[in-house]
Amino acid sequence: MPAATLSIVNPATGSAVLRLAADGPREVAQRYAAARAAQPRWAATPIRKRIAAIEKFRAQVVARGDALAQTLTQEVGKPIRQSRNELKGLLGRLDFFIAESARVLREQKVFTDASQRMDERVTHEPLGVVANISAWNYPYFVGSNVFVPALVAGNAVLYKPSEYATLTGRHIADLLHASGVPEDVFVPVIGAGATGAALLRQPVDGVFFTGSYATGAKIAAAAGRRMIKVQLELGGKDPVYVCEDVDVNAAAAAVADGAFYNTGQSCCSVERIYVHEAIHDAFVDAFVAEVKRYRVGDPLDETTYIGPLTRRAQLDVLRRQVADARRKGATLSTGGSAIKRKGNWFAPTVLTDVDHSMLVMRDESFGPIIGIQAVADDAAAIELMNDTEYGLTAGVYTNDAARARRILSRVDAGSVYWNCCDRVSPRLPWSGVRHSGIGLTLSTMGIQTFTRPKAWHLRSA
Ligand code: NAD
Repeated sequence: MPAATLSIVNPATGSAVLRLAADGPREVAQRYAAARAAQPRWAATPIRKRIAAIEKFRAQVVARGDALAQTLTQEVGKPIRQSRNELKGLLGRLDFFIAESARVLREQKVFTDASQRMDERVTHEPLGVVANISAWNYPYFVGSNVFVPALVAGNAVLYKPSEYATLTGRHIADLLHASGVPEDVFVPVIGAGATGAALLRQPVDGVFFTGSYATGAKIAAAAGRRMIKVQLELGGKDPVYVCEDVDVNAAAAAVADGAFYNTGQSCCSVERIYVHEAIHDAFVDAFVAEVKRYRVGDPLDETTYIGPLTRRAQLDVLRRQVADARRKGATLSTGGSAIKRKGNWFAPTVLTDVDHSMLVMRDESFGPIIGIQAVADDAAAIELMNDTEYGLTAGVYTNDAARARRILSRVDAGSVYWNCCDRVSPRLPWSGVRHSGIGLTLSTMGIQTFTRPKAWHLRSA
């Protein structure tokens, strides 16, 4: 089968940046074979050397930061300041993995009994060759959460960047190779969904996927019969509940940023807002005023806050959500349509008087659009927050710590936030419930997850 062609398009202008050949099944099989052959040697390399390669990678990211940010902005449309923020955030994650990995992966002696001459130990063995199929919205974050600890743990990684972040994926590969990770140990696989599917037909030892629920479900099905490790970091419909005791202006600004940062294209973007009815109108006024202040425009401009949508098809999703909400009685407080200019632009949109019969409160929007719903009390807010197939994050804004704890302990989500939102920490596990996925990355557990434990029962003679 001839290799397909991949077109890189600048989402801010609609113009083609580059065309390149995608890897077909034959190339994918070759890359797999190379990685399989190379992995034992990498696993036998002392861990301090593997960590030293990541330290060099970090230094290269610092040295090349501006150019990397430009590429990211050019291919995904991320406003340039936010591209630089992502690279800055990457350094914090690398620091965490560099500092923690050796300790977390060390052999542990868990029991000794001299009278029986018995030792019990645990070692953390690399999985082998793993597939890392990645998303475009934070390619440095979601990629490094996987490939850095996977490499440090001694795995070979077949890394398929999203077809919308291919150039960034190639930069990552070049920098890792220049840092001492062998080319057949970190192996980029270039292409779209068909290339990802071909990768999964190879006998890999684990699949680490970041992307949509729809694709995640296909990957789970493909991997299920093979009994290999599968991790799926999927979408969300993340709620925030704003109680009546907050500083309304401050809460509105913080939650608006959580909803619209990265043009609403974060897995943990705020996607639903519930506001106590006592402050609902004041909150909506402050929120809409804040959103109207956002600068929409050229993502290369330092002052831009909202850029284009990365995927053109998402414009239709947003149009459908607005039309559905309005038909069912929602009020359009601002925005509501695509912006007529070249590229994939949608006006920042706020819908009020929404309810859970509407798509905008049920389906992942993944764009600059949000619904705000009034609630009578905490019990109603908790019920609505849990009324979703997803469970990635959830937040509450209140001045009352005990109330926040009560509410958050009853919400089903991988991460919960008090007086903050849209936040990821390398020190905390990143996971979701239900359609938001299975498994975890980050934290010390997110290092061990790229290994399998081997139990040693040792009796000396
Ligand atoms: P997507 O599911 O369209 O694509 C993700 C990756 O899967 C891409 O590399 C794509 O080429 C590949 N792919 C597509 N079809 C495939 C198939 N049949 N077999 C194998 N691979 C295939 O998702 P996206 O548009 O890149 O990312 C957006 C989604 O990712 C959103 O739902 C977002 O919430 C989610 N996301 C989640 C997290 C998280 O940490 N939970 C982080 C970032 C993004």
